[in-house]
Amino acid sequence: MARIIAIVNQKGGVGKTTTAVNLAACLAATERKTLLVDFDPQGNATSGLGIEDPGPDGGSYAMVVDQSPAISVIQKTTLGFLDLVPSGIDLTVAEMELAQAERREFRLREALQPTSGVYSYVLIDCPPSLGLLTLNALVASDSIIVPLQCEYYALEGLSKLIRTVSRVQSGLNPNLQTEGVLLTMFDGRTSLASQVAADVRENFQGKIFDTIVPRNVRLSEAPSHGKPIIQYDINSKGAAAYLRLAGEVIARG
Ligand code: ADP
Ligand code: MG
Repeated sequence: MARIIAIVNQKGGVGKTTTAVNLAACLAATERKTLLVDFDPQGNATSGLGIEDPGPDGGSYAMVVDQSPAISVIQKTTLGFLDLVPSGIDLTVAEMELAQAERREFRLREALQPTSGVYSYVLIDCPPSLGLLTLNALVASDSIIVPLQCEYYALEGLSKLIRTVSRVQSGLNPNLQTEGVLLTMFDGRTSLASQVAADVRENFQGKIFDTIVPRNVRLSEAPSHGKPIIQYDINSKGAAAYLRLAGEVIARG
C-alpha cells in the first residue's frame, strides 16, 4: 500500500515544491517506487523535473476533471523509481469546474486508488491556497508535511491550516495524520530557526522533523536545469538535507 503524503501550506514561497520534488527524488533514490503528483496549476514541480505542461488532455487536470485513469496521465522521469503526474495552467479552472461536481472532494483520492499497489510513496505538491484542490489532496492523503520558512511570520495563517486539517479529520478523512512540520530556508546567521522551532513545538505537539533545510543556492538553481538536487549537485548542503529528510520519513514507517 502506498503511503500518500500531501505537502501543504497555503502560503506561497515556503518551500513546498522544493520539498515535494526533492523528497520524492530522494525516496526514489532508495529504490522505493515513488509518484509525485503536481497539484498546483503553476506546474513548478513539473518544470522542475524537466517535463512540459501536459495541456488539458493530460496530467492532474485530466485525472480529476475528466476522470482519466491515473495510469494514462503518469509520466516517467529521468530517475528510474520516480514517476510524475504533471500539471499546468489548465488546472486553474479545475476548481471552478469541480465546484458543482458530484463527490468533488474525492476526485484525487479515487483517481489514485489504482496506483496504491504500484508505489511505496505518493507525494502531492499542493497549490498555495486552501481551496478545493488542496481539500482533494487532504482527503486523498494519509498524512501531511507542512514546510515553514524560518522567518518571523512563519506561523501566521497556520491556525487556518490547522482548522482546515481538523475539519477534514472530523469529516471527509478521519485517518489524516500530521507527519510533521519541516523548517526550510534556514539561514545560519540568524537565531530565528530555534525561535520558530520552539513556536512550532508549542503549536504542533512536537511534530517537527529533526532535519532543517538550509538556505542553499543550489536548491534554487536545480529547477532551471530540470533536475532534482541529487542529480544537479549531490554534494550540496541541500542534497544532504533532503536525503536526511527521506531517511526520517522512511524511519516513520
Ligand atoms: P512553494 O512551492 O511553497 O511556493 P518553492 O519550493 O517554489 O515554494 O520555493 C520558493 C522559492 O524559494 C523558489 O524559488 C525556490 O527555488 C526557493 N527555495 C526553496 N527552498 C530553498 C532553499 N532551501 N534554499 C534556497 N532557495 C530555496
Ligand atoms: Mg509550489
